[in-house]
Amino acid sequence: MDKDTLVEVQDLKTYFFTDEGVVKAVDGVDFSIKKGKTLCVVGESGCGKSITARSIMRLIDPPGRIVEGSIKYVNGEGVEIDLTALSPKGQEIRKIRGMEISMIFQEPMSSLSPVHTIGEQIRESIRLHLGLSKEAAKERTIEVLKEVGIPKAEERYDNYPFQLSGGMRQRVMIAMALACKSRLLIADEPTTALDVTTQANILDLIQGLQKEYEMSVMFITHDLGVVAEIADDAVVMYLGKVVERGPVDAIFHDPKHPYLISLLRSIPQLTAGKMERLDSIRGMVPHPFNRPSGCPFHPRCDRAIKGRCDAAAPPRVILGPGREVSCFLYEEGRS
Ligand code: SF4
Repeated sequence: MDKDTLVEVQDLKTYFFTDEGVVKAVDGVDFSIKKGKTLCVVGESGCGKSITARSIMRLIDPPGRIVEGSIKYVNGEGVEIDLTALSPKGQEIRKIRGMEISMIFQEPMSSLSPVHTIGEQIRESIRLHLGLSKEAAKERTIEVLKEVGIPKAEERYDNYPFQLSGGMRQRVMIAMALACKSRLLIADEPTTALDVTTQANILDLIQGLQKEYEMSVMFITHDLGVVAEIADDAVVMYLGKVVERGPVDAIFHDPKHPYLISLLRSIPQLTAGKMERLDSIRGMVPHPFNRPSGCPFHPRCDRAIKGRCDAAAPPRVILGPGREVSCFLYEEGRS
């Protein structure tokens, strides 16, 4: 791993073994998260984004499990650890989870206890991870509540989650990550349930704090507008696979994979004519038990090559540093 990399995911496979069959939710995924940078993972619902994030946190519940691959992480002491080798319930991952790597979800209520005040929850998290006294932890809690823009932080300390708006609850979750000085924040669609103004505020907050604390961010979204705003690098996923990845400028200005090109064409353009129709991607994401043969995108792809795209998995083609695409159109001699 190079010195700028915080997390390197290699050939990660996370499968779910159900009575109906095996769901290959994540099927051979590779990417890296750089120190102090934002990586956006983008794709439609069901493409494996959240399971990839939960695999990093080792939060996969049975019947799911990581069956192959590695997730290398450089901890606060500079030691490289393969997170897949740790017991999901062991001491070592518990120390990393919540302290070094934090995760926020679309609905913060799912991570906050409804029967404890927000102050108590952040304070206890600080005490557990940083070993501070009760008084010092309370002081630090109020400090971080202020840092994430919660007004009257001293009073809010005694509020229960249900007394706060969705945007405020999301700020509380970010405060929790900050309080423990997390090195990586994994945000799983954290702004999807919020109105646009609150969404913009939360994105600004994450970006501002990231710069200040040099935190790395893995941001999961289906919204390419969010990617354009905050990403340094982007990974595009489809049916458990990375179909394209690279620096965000290249992703937007020189997209290669037909799926990414279709996604970009389906964004409304301010410059479009009044009556211009918005492109949509033909068909639906297939059911996980009916995974297409060959390239998983071939039933929806306008450029699919008969007898090739439906018969074999497309090659991974390296286009430049940190930039690659999985598609037959770019194999040697064709592009
Ligand atoms: Fe389309 Fe074939 Fe490329 Fe898949 S490999 S995206 S089906 S052209």
